[in-house]
Amino acid sequence: MAKNDIREFTLNQLEEYLEQKDEKRFRAKQIQEWLWKKSAHSFEQMTNLSLPLRKMLAEDFVINSLKEDLVQESEDGTIKMRFKLFDDNLIEGVLIPSKARVTACVSSQAGCSLDCRFCATGFMKLKRNLFAGEIYDQVVLLTKKSIEAYGQPLANIVFMGMGEPLLNYKNVLAAIDKITSENGLNISAKRITVSTSGIAKLIKKLGDDGVRFELALSLHSANNIKRSKIMPINDSNPIPDLVEALNYFHEKTGNKITFEYILFDGFNDSVQDARELIDLCNKVPAMVNIIEYNTVEGVPYKKSSEKKREAFAGYLEQNGIVVKVRLSRGKDIDAACGQLANK
Ligand code: SF4
Repeated sequence: MAKNDIREFTLNQLEEYLEQKDEKRFRAKQIQEWLWKKSAHSFEQMTNLSLPLRKMLAEDFVINSLKEDLVQESEDGTIKMRFKLFDDNLIEGVLIPSKARVTACVSSQAGCSLDCRFCATGFMKLKRNLFAGEIYDQVVLLTKKSIEAYGQPLANIVFMGMGEPLLNYKNVLAAIDKITSENGLNISAKRITVSTSGIAKLIKKLGDDGVRFELALSLHSANNIKRSKIMPINDSNPIPDLVEALNYFHEKTGNKITFEYILFDGFNDSVQDARELIDLCNKVPAMVNIIEYNTVEGVPYKKSSEKKREAFAGYLEQNGIVVKVRLSRGKDIDAACGQLANK
């Protein structure tokens, strides 16, 4: 029988296990400190535990750590890391340096089930959900690489890599809990953004669970019919339902929302599109991130011109919307938004 990953055990479960084995319950805290704070990848490393206890743990459990598989560096300084999971599935994470800080983009699933028409990950189909420990390991390995490459740790973490984070709800929240915990990486929740394609009932659940991290919605069109054309999830979670869910989330958490908006040439970059987006921003307390698109093989959508992008962003700003423009990074190594597909 396959052994359980010890990082899937809560403190309580570990304490009970130890008690059954006639070991002291307080050892559970020491074990968890090794697993999370010190990112131990083997029981041998747990030197403040007795040898027999370490041996027993190794007989009963595994630690399914992530392994660095490939590192690619873009000419603009962006770094893409490919990681191998214990079952040989591959996922990717990206480091995006700017003048003052480094942002890490992490994955929540191997592949994705949602089939957004512009996204390379969607073409891969879903392999499986990542475990909390695997999500956590990405942050650990990306932090290490960031210090090595840029001399600084991560300033921000965005769940915008492979997968739909809310469809791996429990593990994503468990990972964030450890990432933000003093007994883990102690990174502020305010520096973490979870980006969703929009699943209304789970957005509401985030509000009910009182999460402290930021939320972004991959919107890409404020027009319900158009949005369904590029994001099939919109059929079951139409924009009016998302508006209600996002307002609920805002009321419960006080957190503002970001609308991610990739500009596709001739599809969602007209004045009419901008007007519809402004109307939506008047219904939800949100700012807008305009994202430059990157060509994905086999996808009919192309990026809007710089002129159109500036006009679109300018129009929003003139109408009182807070807008940030995010230019494409790492496209030469397929690390840019929508390009992650283990190539
Ligand atoms: S954009 Fe996100 S949710 Fe949509 S297919 Fe790609 S990874 Fe999945």
